[in-house]
Amino acid sequence: MTNPPSTVTLTVHGIGSPVRPLDPGEDEVWVTVKQFEDVLDAVAGRTDVRLTFDDANASDVEIALPHLMKRGLTGQFFVPAGLLGRPGRLTEENVRELLDAGMTLGSHGWAHCDWRRLSPEQVPDEMTKAAEVLAGFSGTPVTEVSAPFGSYDRHVLRRLREAGATKVYTSDTGRAHPEAWLHARTSLRDTIDRAWIDQVLDGKPSLPRRARNLAARTVKRLRG
Ligand SMILES: [Zn+2]
Repeated sequence: MTNPPSTVTLTVHGIGSPVRPLDPGEDEVWVTVKQFEDVLDAVAGRTDVRLTFDDANASDVEIALPHLMKRGLTGQFFVPAGLLGRPGRLTEENVRELLDAGMTLGSHGWAHCDWRRLSPEQVPDEMTKAAEVLAGFSGTPVTEVSAPFGSYDRHVLRRLREAGATKVYTSDTGRAHPEAWLHARTSLRDTIDRAWIDQVLDGKPSLPRRARNLAARTVKRLRG
């Protein structure tokens, strides 16, 4: 029996010592340089693993970029376009640097808001303007998005479809079919070690865990 093709998409938020005050709980998704390097070493040469970076933290360019380039790896950077140039975040020049190095962009909305709680007035900025600003850097349409805080429901998904999103990345963990429109990712956390990396890249989650993940995703997709 062969398994259907599937990929693991990892999400990096911040690396090293944060250079801006973090939101409550945000430190749990920052990793050390050593943890990040261990992940890259495990990922190198794997065509079934993809790397994504959310939040446009300055560490994307200062730490991630040189380590990626050293290993010939690439990543997709999901930028909250309205936060460019803020303290501790990427600058416009940094975004060009990423593109010049062969990295790709995705949208992480405008101001890093929970998309389930948007007012109607916020929707165009979050789901259209953000992507347009990023397309201005890349010169090509930016149609892939990651949901801030991994937060979505059926209304969010409908709005994203209407805005032309071709792929929506979540934080639901687990493997995903490469073509899946709603695409699960797994976040690196401050507790990760080699055993965790091996488990995420090669381990099969237990049947009860897979059933739990599936149930949680179904609820999110349908809730309103
Ligand atoms: Zn985020």
